[in-house]
Order: sequence, then C-alpha cells, then structure tokens
Amino acid sequence: MNDIFNRQPLSAALEEKSYPVPPFEHQQQPFPGLASKMKPLPDHGETSYRGSGRLQGRKALITGGDSGIGRAVAIAFAREGADVAINYLPEEESDAREVIALLQEEGRKAIAIPGDIRDEAFCQYLVKQAADELAGLDLLVNNAGRQQYCESIKDLTTESFDATFKTNVYAMFWITKAALDYLPRGAAIINTTSVQAFKPSEILLDYAQTKAAIVAFTKSLAGQLGSQGIRVNAVAPGPYWTALQCCGGQPQEKIEVFGQSAPLGRPGQPAEIAPLYVTLASAENSYASGQVWCSDGGTGTL
Ligand code: NAD
Ligand code: MG
Repeated sequence: MNDIFNRQPLSAALEEKSYPVPPFEHQQQPFPGLASKMKPLPDHGETSYRGSGRLQGRKALITGGDSGIGRAVAIAFAREGADVAINYLPEEESDAREVIALLQEEGRKAIAIPGDIRDEAFCQYLVKQAADELAGLDLLVNNAGRQQYCESIKDLTTESFDATFKTNVYAMFWITKAALDYLPRGAAIINTTSVQAFKPSEILLDYAQTKAAIVAFTKSLAGQLGSQGIRVNAVAPGPYWTALQCCGGQPQEKIEVFGQSAPLGRPGQPAEIAPLYVTLASAENSYASGQVWCSDGGTGTL
C-alpha cells in the first residue's frame, strides 16, 4: 500500500528543516529587543538563503531591517542582487551592524539609517537619504512594527495606543508618500501586516487595528498606483520567532509555548518568510498587486 506518511523525501532539498519547537526558555527584553539576545537565536537565512539574481540591480529600503523578518528580507534581497538601506532604532545598532556586514559580504551597497519613524520629518529624511545613497529607489518594504500586549482597554494608555499607530500606520503613510518621489514604473511596495488583521487577539487591541489598517492601505494604494506601474502588496505573518515577541509583544508564559498551537507545532523562523517578499518584489510577479500573502504555519487564516 502506498503510505504517504512513510514516504522518503525525493531529495535533500525537500527534507524538513529541524527548526526549534516549544517549550522555549523564559526570556524578557526591554523594547525594542535584540535578535542577538534571543534563545535560541532566530534563523534569518544567514547561512541558508541562496539567491538567483531575481532582484539584480534593484534598490531597496527596508524598515526594521536590523532584526527578525526585516533582517531576513534584507539578506534575501542582497543575495538576489539588490542594494539595500535599512532603518532601525539607535538602540538596535549592534543587530544592525551584523546585517550590514552580511550585506557587504555579498558585495552589495548596504546603508544603515537609524532613527525613530514615529517622526514625520525623520521619515522624509530616511527616504531621501536612502534614495541618495542608493542612487534611486525601486523597492520599499514597510516592515517596522510595534506590538505591546495589554490585557484590558482600561489599561491601554493614549500614549501607548498613539505609539503603536505612529509606528505601524503613520510611518508607513509618511514613508510611502515620500518614496513616491523616487519610485519608477516597475517599483514595488511591500507592507508587513499580520494574521492579527483577520483574527485579532484580545490582548492586542491596538496592534491588531493597525494591522487591519495596513491591509486597507495596501489595497487602496494598489488601486491608486496601478496606472503608474507600481505594485503594492502585503505579507501577513503568523507567529514568527523574533525579538518583537520577547520585548512586550506577548506575556512571558506565551513565549514559552510560542507557535505551539500552529498546525506545524512551532513558530516560523524569519528565513521562512523572506521568500514571499522576494517573490512580491520580483518583476516576475508583475500582475500581483493589492494582495495579502500569508505564512502562518498552517492555520489557513487567509
Ligand atoms: P523585530 O522586533 O525583529 O522587528 C521590528 C522592528 O521594528 C524592530 O527591529 C525595530 O527596528 C522597528 N521599530 C519599532 N519601532 C520603531 C520606531 N519607532 N522607529 C524605527 N523602527 C522601529 O520583529 P519582527 O517580528 O521581525 O517584526 C517585523 C514586522 O513583522 C512587524 O511589522 C510586526 O508587526 C510583523 N509581524 C510579526 C509577527 C511575529 O510573530 N514576529 C507576526 C505578524 C506580524
Ligand atoms: Mg530589531
């Protein structure tokens, strides 16, 4: 009998990677957290991502490019042939240095532009600086995000609500608006939303709203920019093993079992989602716009 469960993989390339499964160690970091302090360290594709020239000569700005999903995207874009500028908070300089070194190893331009994107003037400076140093811009990845859990709406302060919206929604608006001065036909914008946009957790009241706003922004802007030949899409991650979760994104007891309830039984690693960004960025995908592509370990949210 043909038992599919006992079949051997056809090749080494099909073998399941042995990524970490819960339980994880108790770990807490102050915001914004460092990838270098996570236990176990996330896999951003440092040793595994292999490019094939899909983004040769492209010029990308990636917010939150120091760690997590943004770092994995930066590594993948550079290995596909793109020059890359990353933004991050000054407290994350040590993580950012690791990324810059990896990009330089690929022989790509690697530009570090630290600063707080909750400030509109900084967002305008960031885009101009990236475009000046890269001599143009044709890929924008709005990926930076703030997630701080809060059990009750009564404890959610205006200051915290505002910081989440400024980081996740306003900055995306300011950066995208500024980038339109540079983005040519064929350019792509990719926004990081979340499964939270569709299945909001009760403890992520503000964060989930911002992620829903990102979906609406993506679809609306895709309509506006279609005639200019600029595609706008979003990626919706499920539970991914990144610093965001360990610095207030989830209660500690949830970190210890993070990803357990996904059908794959573990959190995703940033390296596992970067290929979606590459595909959306690539000119091969020239008819996909206004889409939200999900990667969430099997829950089938989207
Ligand atoms: P991460 O902590 O590694 O990356 C988030 C980055 O946002 C930080 O590195 C930081 O540089 C940046 N950032 C935060 N506030 C900022 C500010 N005021 N100014 C400038 N930069 C700021 O975590 P991640 O999980 O890789 O997060 C990337 C994106 O993925 C976020 O938008 C997050 O909401 C989204 N996401 C993550 C998960 C997950 O499970 N990790 C799930 C769904 C969506
Ligand atoms: Mg970081």
